[in-house]
Amino acid sequence: MELTLWTYEGPPHVGAIRVAASMRDVHLMLHSPQGDTYADLLFTMIEREGRRPPVTYTTFQARDLGSSTAEMVINSLRESAERFKPQVLLVADSCTAELIQDQPGALALGADLPVPVIPLEMAAYTRKENWGAAETFYQLVRGLLSRQAPPPGTERPPREPGARPSVNLLGPTKLGFRCRDDVVEIERLLSSMGVDVNVVAPLGASPQDLQAIPKADANVNLCPEVSDLTCSWLARTFGMPTISTIPMGWGATRDFIAEVASALGLDVDVDAVGESRLPWYSRSIDSTYLTGKRVFVFADGSHAIAAARVARDEMGFEVVGLGTYSRERARDVRAAAKEYGLEALITDNYLEVEAKVQELQPEMVLGTQMERHIAKRLGIPCAVISTPAHVQDYPARYSPQMGFEGANVLFDTWVHPLIMGLEEHLLHMFRDDFEFNDSVGPSHLGSEGEGARAQDSSSGAGQPDDGAIVWDFEAEKELKKIPFFVRGKARRNTEKFAVEHGLTTIEVDTLYDAKAHFSN
Ligand code: SF4
Repeated sequence: MELTLWTYEGPPHVGAIRVAASMRDVHLMLHSPQGDTYADLLFTMIEREGRRPPVTYTTFQARDLGSSTAEMVINSLRESAERFKPQVLLVADSCTAELIQDQPGALALGADLPVPVIPLEMAAYTRKENWGAAETFYQLVRGLLSRQAPPPGTERPPREPGARPSVNLLGPTKLGFRCRDDVVEIERLLSSMGVDVNVVAPLGASPQDLQAIPKADANVNLCPEVSDLTCSWLARTFGMPTISTIPMGWGATRDFIAEVASALGLDVDVDAVGESRLPWYSRSIDSTYLTGKRVFVFADGSHAIAAARVARDEMGFEVVGLGTYSRERARDVRAAAKEYGLEALITDNYLEVEAKVQELQPEMVLGTQMERHIAKRLGIPCAVISTPAHVQDYPARYSPQMGFEGANVLFDTWVHPLIMGLEEHLLHMFRDDFEFNDSVGPSHLGSEGEGARAQDSSSGAGQPDDGAIVWDFEAEKELKKIPFFVRGKARRNTEKFAVEHGLTTIEVDTLYDAKAHFSN
């Protein structure tokens, strides 16, 4: 048992629903108790889809457990096949159904249905949503393509002379973070390189489309949380190369272009493909004050790794913390964190994330909807860079994260929550203004930041638990002179310094000694 209040991912069957809902002509029959239809709202309210996801639930109740729930499964399967006439029927258990062991997959295979059936094992008690999506996508692709597989060891024939190079974009789904616009942006980028997109999947694809996957020259592993498993299988079985750079940020987009060119044997001038305004905005003098801002990054594996690179190399921030809730990507995030001299935080417990943010006292948090709440409580500016996200992160306007336009969007989104340069400077100098002072938020955000700022991030946030350290009045006054966005960090460092030097009272001198100590 684990006491859980917030969860970063849903159960694996939600991942299966995401794949089914992203595709055309696929239907999912989910053996589940009454009430599991709540998942529909994720699509109709957060994605704001105009149709119900293609899922039939058995919705068994307590009284059904006394009779045959297996019969309900067979009836639902028949009805789904007849009413929706899908090209493929997926069959899975939800968490509760897994306990009653009706084995709907086996029942479906024996039910002589008029459509091909792909049974899914969802492992609800050990795995989560992204794993469920990855497993569903893999089983679908494998189920549809195994028969086309050439004998092991067969060389992939070269592209026909004169044929245009093409790739598949694998991984984007409904409820993914900005997948809708990322696909448009990457298709545009590839087209300006003279590369066609053969199949985008699961988003928008039908089972028939999936059967055309081997026709492309390579696979772009666009959302590894969903497509890693499938790309490796396609590489092993069909000898298809995988393009694994995620084109998020200016530098990564250029690396992506280079990787595509090399995988397809193209001669491409990276500078001619496109340009982002991010590098110029970052270089412009108005961005000087961003340099060295201490940022904490926590997201799914791909967005965390990509955001850390943009934060350090393209915005000039200092990455002081990096982590993920995606256990499947833990190894990659650990390797990335090493590059920043950090130890990765791998957890799906938001309390651990909150404790880390409190300990590090960053000036900005890049995270998920959960980190938005954490940052709000601690009075720290925050931007959302990954799922789980709420409805405002499924916007009406074009807002990719990938490609050159995506880099523009990243720049605006991340700078927006920060206090602007002139105001930051004035706050250093005049802290007693009745309108613009430490306890109100950035003035360009109206009253938005006020609540957060009212809870002074220095008000004991870093106080040691045993209360052994006391700040004397003058020292506390001196501490207040430090602008609020770095005050928490100064408080913690001073207390750490005091503990290390066996001091129980912090005086003004201790504050300055600690400052000198840490700046050395
Ligand atoms: S079956 Fe799983 S998802 Fe459905 S209500 Fe029970 S615990 Fe929640």
